[in-house]
Amino acid sequence: QRVGYAIVGLGHLTLAEILPGFGQCKHAKPVALVSGSPDKMAKAAKQYGIKPSNCYSYQDYDKLKDNPEVQVIYIVLPNSMHHEYVLRGARAGKHILCEKPMANSVKECEEMIAACQKANVKLMIAYRIQYEPLNREAMKRVRAKQYGQTKLIQMMDCQNQAHDNQWRHKKALAGGGALPDIGLYCLNTTRFLLGEEPDEVFAYTYSTPGDDRFKEIEENVSFTLRFPSGVISQCLAGYGSFNSKNYMVHAETGTIKMDPAFPYKGLKQEFVHAPEGKQVIEQPSNPGKQQFALEMDHMALCVRHNQQPYTPGEEGLQDQRIMEAIYKSAREGKPVKLTAGVGKTDAF
Ligand code: NAD
Repeated sequence: QRVGYAIVGLGHLTLAEILPGFGQCKHAKPVALVSGSPDKMAKAAKQYGIKPSNCYSYQDYDKLKDNPEVQVIYIVLPNSMHHEYVLRGARAGKHILCEKPMANSVKECEEMIAACQKANVKLMIAYRIQYEPLNREAMKRVRAKQYGQTKLIQMMDCQNQAHDNQWRHKKALAGGGALPDIGLYCLNTTRFLLGEEPDEVFAYTYSTPGDDRFKEIEENVSFTLRFPSGVISQCLAGYGSFNSKNYMVHAETGTIKMDPAFPYKGLKQEFVHAPEGKQVIEQPSNPGKQQFALEMDHMALCVRHNQQPYTPGEEGLQDQRIMEAIYKSAREGKPVKLTAGVGKTDAF
Protein backbone atom coordinates (compact mmCIF):
# COMPACT_ATOMS: atom_id res chain seq x y z
CA GLN A 1 0.00 0.00 0.00
CA ARG A 2 1.53 3.30 -1.14
CA VAL A 3 1.68 6.31 1.17
CA GLY A 4 -1.07 8.84 0.29
CA TYR A 5 -0.13 12.46 -0.45
CA ALA A 6 -2.24 15.63 -0.46
CA ILE A 7 -0.66 18.29 -2.69
CA VAL A 8 -1.32 21.89 -1.66
CA GLY A 9 -1.07 24.47 -4.47
CA LEU A 10 -1.58 23.69 -8.15
CA GLY A 11 1.01 26.05 -9.63
CA HIS A 12 3.68 25.40 -12.20
CA LEU A 13 5.79 23.04 -10.12
CA THR A 14 2.88 20.83 -9.06
CA LEU A 15 1.41 20.51 -12.54
CA ALA A 16 4.64 20.18 -14.52
CA GLU A 17 6.76 18.06 -12.18
CA ILE A 18 5.20 16.80 -8.96
CA LEU A 19 1.96 15.23 -10.19
CA PRO A 20 3.66 13.63 -13.24
CA GLY A 21 6.48 12.50 -10.91
CA PHE A 22 4.15 10.22 -8.94
CA GLY A 23 4.07 8.05 -12.08
CA GLN A 24 7.66 7.02 -11.28
CA CYS A 25 7.10 6.56 -7.54
CA LYS A 26 7.18 3.13 -5.93
CA HIS A 27 5.97 4.14 -2.49
CA ALA A 28 3.94 7.36 -2.86
CA LYS A 29 0.69 8.22 -4.59
CA PRO A 30 -1.43 11.38 -4.90
CA VAL A 31 -4.78 10.99 -3.13
CA ALA A 32 -5.92 14.59 -2.46
CA LEU A 33 -5.51 18.14 -3.80
CA VAL A 34 -5.85 21.56 -2.16
CA SER A 35 -6.31 24.60 -4.40
CA GLY A 36 -8.06 27.94 -4.78
CA SER A 37 -9.04 27.17 -8.39
CA PRO A 38 -11.89 24.61 -8.54
CA ASP A 39 -11.70 24.23 -12.35
CA LYS A 40 -7.97 23.64 -12.40
CA MET A 41 -8.36 21.21 -9.51
CA ALA A 42 -11.17 19.24 -11.17
CA LYS A 43 -9.06 18.85 -14.31
CA ALA A 44 -5.95 17.71 -12.41
CA ALA A 45 -8.02 15.39 -10.21
CA LYS A 46 -9.52 13.71 -13.26
CA GLN A 47 -6.13 13.35 -14.91
CA TYR A 48 -4.52 11.74 -11.83
CA GLY A 49 -7.48 9.67 -10.63
CA ILE A 50 -8.17 11.68 -7.48
CA LYS A 51 -11.71 11.49 -6.10
CA PRO A 52 -13.78 14.72 -6.20
CA SER A 53 -14.46 14.23 -2.48
CA ASN A 54 -10.69 14.49 -1.89
CA CYS A 55 -10.46 17.96 -3.48
CA TYR A 56 -10.26 20.77 -0.89
CA SER A 57 -10.28 24.57 -0.99
CA TYR A 58 -7.75 26.50 1.13
CA GLN A 59 -10.60 27.22 3.59
CA ASP A 60 -11.24 23.47 3.92
CA TYR A 61 -7.56 22.58 4.26
CA ASP A 62 -7.92 21.70 7.97
CA LYS A 63 -10.47 19.04 7.08
CA LEU A 64 -7.60 16.87 5.81
CA LYS A 65 -7.46 15.86 9.48
CA ASP A 66 -10.50 13.64 8.92
CA ASN A 67 -9.14 11.96 5.78
CA PRO A 68 -7.30 8.74 6.67
CA GLU A 69 -6.16 8.28 3.04
CA VAL A 70 -3.83 11.28 3.46
CA GLN A 71 -0.60 10.56 5.35
CA VAL A 72 1.66 13.26 3.92
CA ILE A 73 0.88 16.87 2.96
CA TYR A 74 3.18 18.33 0.27
CA ILE A 75 3.19 22.14 0.46
CA VAL A 76 3.90 23.78 -2.89
CA LEU A 77 2.81 27.37 -2.23
CA PRO A 78 4.62 30.74 -2.37
CA ASN A 79 7.38 30.86 0.24
CA SER A 80 5.58 33.13 2.72
CA MET A 81 2.71 30.62 3.00
CA HIS A 82 4.87 27.62 3.98
CA HIS A 83 4.87 28.57 7.66
CA GLU A 84 1.08 28.78 8.04
CA TYR A 85 0.38 25.66 6.01
CA VAL A 86 2.99 23.59 7.85
CA LEU A 87 1.56 24.65 11.22
CA ARG A 88 -2.00 23.87 10.17
CA GLY A 89 -0.95 20.59 8.50
CA ALA A 90 0.85 19.47 11.65
CA ARG A 91 -2.25 20.34 13.70
CA ALA A 92 -4.19 18.08 11.33
CA GLY A 93 -1.82 15.29 12.40
CA LYS A 94 -0.23 14.77 8.97
CA HIS A 95 3.44 14.37 8.04
CA ILE A 96 4.74 17.31 6.00
CA LEU A 97 6.92 17.65 2.93
CA CYS A 98 7.52 21.38 2.40
CA GLU A 99 9.01 23.05 -0.67
CA LYS A 100 12.20 25.08 -0.43
CA PRO A 101 12.97 27.66 0.85
CA MET A 102 11.50 26.40 4.11
CA ALA A 103 10.17 29.86 5.12
CA ASN A 104 11.08 33.54 5.17
CA SER A 105 12.76 33.77 8.57
CA VAL A 106 14.64 31.75 11.18
CA LYS A 107 11.80 32.34 13.62
CA GLU A 108 9.26 30.83 11.22
CA CYS A 109 11.52 27.80 10.60
CA GLU A 110 11.89 27.24 14.33
CA GLU A 111 8.12 27.43 14.82
CA MET A 112 7.56 24.93 12.01
CA ILE A 113 9.99 22.44 13.55
CA ALA A 114 8.43 22.89 17.00
CA ALA A 115 4.88 22.45 15.63
CA CYS A 116 5.80 19.18 13.91
CA GLN A 117 7.60 17.90 17.00
CA LYS A 118 4.61 18.75 19.17
CA ALA A 119 2.22 16.99 16.79
CA ASN A 120 4.65 14.04 16.50
CA VAL A 121 4.73 14.26 12.70
CA LYS A 122 7.73 14.25 10.35
CA LEU A 123 8.90 17.37 8.55
CA MET A 124 10.98 17.16 5.40
CA ILE A 125 12.20 20.04 3.20
CA ALA A 126 12.12 19.27 -0.53
CA TYR A 127 15.82 19.55 -1.38
CA ARG A 128 15.55 17.39 -4.50
CA ILE A 129 19.26 17.70 -5.38
CA GLN A 130 20.15 15.67 -2.27
CA TYR A 131 18.17 12.72 -3.68
CA GLU A 132 19.51 12.97 -7.25
CA PRO A 133 22.01 10.20 -8.14
CA LEU A 134 24.73 12.24 -9.91
CA ASN A 135 24.85 14.86 -7.17
CA ARG A 136 24.90 12.04 -4.61
CA GLU A 137 27.87 10.46 -6.38
CA ALA A 138 29.69 13.81 -6.28
CA MET A 139 28.90 14.08 -2.56
CA LYS A 140 30.26 10.57 -1.90
CA ARG A 141 33.54 11.27 -3.72
CA VAL A 142 34.00 14.63 -1.99
CA ARG A 143 33.33 13.19 1.46
CA ALA A 144 35.51 10.11 0.80
CA LYS A 145 38.30 12.47 -0.34
CA GLN A 146 38.65 10.42 -3.53
CA TYR A 147 40.65 13.29 -5.06
CA GLY A 148 42.23 14.39 -1.79
CA GLN A 149 41.15 17.42 0.22
CA THR A 150 38.66 19.74 -1.46
CA LYS A 151 40.10 23.24 -1.64
CA LEU A 152 37.74 25.41 -3.66
CA ILE A 153 34.16 25.23 -4.93
CA GLN A 154 32.45 27.43 -7.51
CA MET A 155 28.67 27.35 -7.82
CA MET A 156 26.30 29.32 -10.00
CA ASP A 157 22.53 29.42 -10.44
CA CYS A 158 21.25 32.07 -12.84
CA GLN A 159 18.11 32.54 -14.89
CA ASN A 160 16.56 35.51 -16.64
CA GLN A 161 13.18 36.07 -14.97
CA ALA A 162 10.18 37.06 -17.07
CA HIS A 163 8.61 40.48 -16.45
CA ASP A 164 5.43 38.76 -15.24
CA ASN A 165 4.78 40.54 -11.94
CA GLN A 166 4.75 37.20 -10.14
CA TRP A 167 5.00 36.52 -6.40
CA ARG A 168 8.75 35.80 -6.68
CA HIS A 169 9.31 39.52 -7.26
CA LYS A 170 7.41 40.55 -4.11
CA LYS A 171 9.40 40.60 -0.90
CA ALA A 172 6.48 39.76 1.39
CA LEU A 173 5.67 36.59 -0.56
CA ALA A 174 9.13 35.47 -1.64
CA GLY A 175 11.22 36.59 1.34
CA GLY A 176 13.96 37.79 -1.02
CA GLY A 177 15.05 37.50 -4.62
CA ALA A 178 17.65 35.31 -6.31
CA LEU A 179 19.09 34.18 -2.96
CA PRO A 180 16.23 32.17 -1.40
CA ASP A 181 14.90 30.96 -4.74
CA ILE A 182 17.98 29.82 -6.68
CA GLY A 183 21.04 30.91 -4.68
CA LEU A 184 19.76 28.39 -2.14
CA TYR A 185 20.85 25.61 -4.51
CA CYS A 186 24.45 26.87 -4.31
CA LEU A 187 24.28 27.14 -0.54
CA ASN A 188 22.53 23.85 0.18
CA THR A 189 24.51 21.86 -2.38
CA THR A 190 27.85 23.14 -1.06
CA ARG A 191 26.84 22.06 2.46
CA PHE A 192 25.57 18.73 1.10
CA LEU A 193 28.79 17.96 -0.81
CA LEU A 194 31.06 18.78 2.10
CA GLY A 195 28.96 17.54 5.02
CA GLU A 196 30.37 20.53 6.86
CA GLU A 197 28.94 23.85 8.08
CA PRO A 198 30.44 27.23 7.10
CA ASP A 199 31.85 29.40 9.87
CA GLU A 200 31.86 32.69 7.94
CA VAL A 201 30.15 34.34 4.94
CA PHE A 202 30.86 37.44 2.89
CA ALA A 203 28.36 38.73 0.34
CA TYR A 204 27.31 41.38 -2.17
CA THR A 205 23.89 42.03 -3.66
CA TYR A 206 22.96 44.18 -6.64
CA SER A 207 19.78 45.09 -8.54
CA THR A 208 19.64 46.96 -11.84
CA PRO A 209 18.04 50.36 -11.13
CA GLY A 210 14.67 50.90 -12.82
CA ASP A 211 14.06 47.21 -13.56
CA ASP A 212 10.45 46.52 -12.49
CA ARG A 213 11.31 42.95 -11.40
CA PHE A 214 13.81 44.09 -8.79
CA LYS A 215 12.06 46.94 -7.01
CA GLU A 216 11.60 44.87 -3.85
CA ILE A 217 14.05 42.01 -4.14
CA GLU A 218 17.69 41.52 -5.14
CA GLU A 219 18.57 40.61 -8.71
CA ASN A 220 22.06 39.29 -8.05
CA VAL A 221 23.83 37.88 -5.05
CA SER A 222 27.42 36.78 -4.69
CA PHE A 223 28.48 35.05 -1.51
CA THR A 224 31.56 33.30 -0.27
CA LEU A 225 31.28 30.54 2.31
CA ARG A 226 34.32 29.72 4.42
CA PHE A 227 34.51 26.32 6.13
CA PRO A 228 36.50 25.18 9.18
CA SER A 229 38.41 22.66 6.99
CA GLY A 230 39.66 25.58 4.89
CA VAL A 231 37.36 25.04 1.90
CA ILE A 232 36.19 28.26 0.24
CA SER A 233 32.98 28.08 -1.82
CA GLN A 234 32.16 30.98 -4.10
CA CYS A 235 28.52 31.23 -5.12
CA LEU A 236 26.69 33.41 -7.65
CA ALA A 237 22.96 33.62 -8.23
CA GLY A 238 21.15 35.97 -10.57
CA TYR A 239 17.65 36.68 -11.79
CA GLY A 240 18.70 38.78 -14.79
CA SER A 241 21.09 36.62 -16.80
CA PHE A 242 20.78 33.61 -19.07
CA ASN A 243 20.46 30.07 -17.63
CA SER A 244 23.67 28.95 -16.00
CA LYS A 245 23.30 26.29 -13.32
CA ASN A 246 26.53 24.52 -12.56
CA TYR A 247 29.38 23.84 -10.16
CA MET A 248 33.01 22.79 -10.01
CA VAL A 249 34.74 21.20 -7.05
CA HIS A 250 38.51 21.64 -7.05
CA ALA A 251 40.34 19.05 -4.94
CA GLU A 252 44.04 18.21 -4.63
CA THR A 253 44.17 15.57 -7.37
CA GLY A 254 40.95 15.99 -9.27
CA THR A 255 38.05 18.13 -10.35
CA ILE A 256 34.34 17.40 -10.25
CA LYS A 257 32.20 19.28 -12.72
CA MET A 258 28.41 19.35 -12.90
CA ASP A 259 27.04 21.40 -15.79
CA PRO A 260 24.16 21.66 -15.63
CA ALA A 261 23.81 20.64 -11.99
CA PHE A 262 20.43 21.96 -10.85
CA PRO A 263 17.72 21.60 -13.55
CA TYR A 264 15.06 18.90 -13.36
CA LYS A 265 16.70 16.85 -16.12
CA GLY A 266 19.64 16.65 -18.51
CA LEU A 267 22.28 16.88 -15.77
CA LYS A 268 25.87 16.26 -16.89
CA GLN A 269 28.80 15.22 -14.76
CA GLU A 270 32.53 14.99 -15.34
CA PHE A 271 35.33 13.76 -13.09
CA VAL A 272 38.84 14.77 -14.19
CA HIS A 273 41.98 13.43 -12.56
CA ALA A 274 45.46 12.18 -13.53
CA PRO A 275 46.20 8.94 -11.65
CA GLU A 276 49.54 8.14 -13.35
CA GLY A 277 50.32 11.51 -14.76
CA LYS A 278 47.87 10.97 -17.58
CA GLN A 279 44.59 12.83 -17.60
CA VAL A 280 41.49 10.66 -17.21
CA ILE A 281 38.02 12.04 -17.85
CA GLU A 282 35.06 10.08 -16.53
CA GLN A 283 31.56 11.05 -17.65
CA PRO A 284 28.99 8.86 -15.86
CA SER A 285 25.76 8.33 -17.73
CA ASN A 286 22.77 10.05 -16.26
CA PRO A 287 20.24 7.59 -14.80
CA GLY A 288 17.66 10.31 -15.53
CA LYS A 289 15.44 9.54 -12.54
CA GLN A 290 12.65 12.01 -11.90
CA GLN A 291 13.97 13.96 -8.94
CA PHE A 292 10.58 14.62 -7.36
CA ALA A 293 9.73 10.90 -7.52
CA LEU A 294 12.95 10.10 -5.63
CA GLU A 295 12.24 12.73 -3.00
CA MET A 296 8.58 11.75 -2.53
CA ASP A 297 9.48 8.05 -2.26
CA HIS A 298 12.08 8.91 0.37
CA MET A 299 9.48 10.69 2.50
CA ALA A 300 7.03 7.81 1.98
CA LEU A 301 9.60 5.29 3.23
CA CYS A 302 10.42 7.49 6.23
CA VAL A 303 6.72 7.50 7.12
CA ARG A 304 6.38 3.77 6.61
CA HIS A 305 9.50 2.87 8.63
CA ASN A 306 9.20 5.73 11.12
CA GLN A 307 12.56 7.30 10.19
CA GLN A 308 13.83 10.85 10.17
CA PRO A 309 13.94 12.28 6.60
CA TYR A 310 17.44 12.95 5.21
CA THR A 311 16.55 16.63 4.76
CA PRO A 312 14.49 17.45 7.87
CA GLY A 313 13.27 20.87 9.01
CA GLU A 314 16.64 21.49 10.71
CA GLU A 315 18.25 21.45 7.25
CA GLY A 316 15.97 24.25 6.08
CA LEU A 317 16.53 26.17 9.30
CA GLN A 318 20.32 26.02 8.87
CA ASP A 319 20.07 27.39 5.31
CA GLN A 320 17.78 30.15 6.55
CA ARG A 321 20.30 31.10 9.27
CA ILE A 322 23.06 31.30 6.66
CA MET A 323 20.88 33.29 4.22
CA GLU A 324 20.15 35.83 6.94
CA ALA A 325 23.90 36.12 7.54
CA ILE A 326 24.46 36.57 3.78
CA TYR A 327 22.00 39.50 3.70
CA LYS A 328 23.60 40.98 6.82
CA SER A 329 27.05 40.77 5.24
CA ALA A 330 25.80 42.44 2.04
CA ARG A 331 24.11 45.20 4.04
CA GLU A 332 27.07 45.89 6.29
CA GLY A 333 29.82 45.29 3.73
CA LYS A 334 31.80 42.96 5.98
CA PRO A 335 32.12 39.24 6.73
CA VAL A 336 29.66 37.67 9.18
CA LYS A 337 30.66 34.83 11.49
CA LEU A 338 28.35 31.87 11.88
CA THR A 339 27.94 29.73 14.95
CA ALA A 340 28.06 25.95 14.63
CA GLY A 341 25.31 24.44 12.54
CA VAL A 342 23.16 21.36 12.82
CA GLY A 343 25.65 18.75 11.57
CA LYS A 344 24.27 16.40 8.99
CA THR A 345 23.32 12.78 9.38
CA ASP A 346 24.83 10.37 6.88
CA ALA A 347 22.14 7.78 7.37
CA PHE A 348 20.58 7.86 3.89
P1 NAD B 1 3.57 29.10 -8.88
O1 NAD B 1 3.41 30.57 -8.87
O2 NAD B 1 3.62 28.42 -10.21
O3 NAD B 1 2.43 28.41 -8.01
C1 NAD B 1 2.04 28.87 -6.75
C2 NAD B 1 0.65 28.34 -6.42
O4 NAD B 1 0.25 28.93 -5.20
C3 NAD B 1 -0.39 28.69 -7.48
O5 NAD B 1 -1.23 27.60 -7.68
C4 NAD B 1 -1.14 29.84 -6.83
O6 NAD B 1 -2.50 29.92 -7.25
C5 NAD B 1 -1.07 29.46 -5.36
N1 NAD B 1 -1.25 30.61 -4.48
C6 NAD B 1 -2.01 30.59 -3.38
N2 NAD B 1 -1.99 31.79 -2.78
C7 NAD B 1 -1.22 32.58 -3.52
C8 NAD B 1 -0.82 33.95 -3.41
N3 NAD B 1 -1.20 34.73 -2.39
N4 NAD B 1 0.00 34.44 -4.36
C9 NAD B 1 0.43 33.68 -5.37
N5 NAD B 1 0.08 32.38 -5.52
C10 NAD B 1 -0.74 31.84 -4.61
O7 NAD B 1 4.88 28.78 -8.04
P2 NAD B 1 5.75 27.45 -8.09
O8 NAD B 1 6.86 27.66 -9.06
O9 NAD B 1 4.90 26.26 -8.24
O10 NAD B 1 6.43 27.50 -6.62
C11 NAD B 1 5.76 27.05 -5.47
C12 NAD B 1 6.78 26.67 -4.41
O11 NAD B 1 7.61 25.64 -4.91
C13 NAD B 1 7.73 27.79 -3.99
O12 NAD B 1 8.02 27.68 -2.62
C14 NAD B 1 8.99 27.52 -4.79
O13 NAD B 1 10.16 27.99 -4.18
C15 NAD B 1 8.97 26.02 -4.85
N6 NAD B 1 9.66 25.50 -6.05
C16 NAD B 1 10.57 24.52 -5.89
C17 NAD B 1 11.22 23.98 -6.98
C18 NAD B 1 12.17 22.85 -6.81
O14 NAD B 1 12.88 22.53 -7.75
N7 NAD B 1 12.19 22.19 -5.67
C19 NAD B 1 10.93 24.48 -8.25
C20 NAD B 1 9.97 25.48 -8.40
C21 NAD B 1 9.34 25.99 -7.28
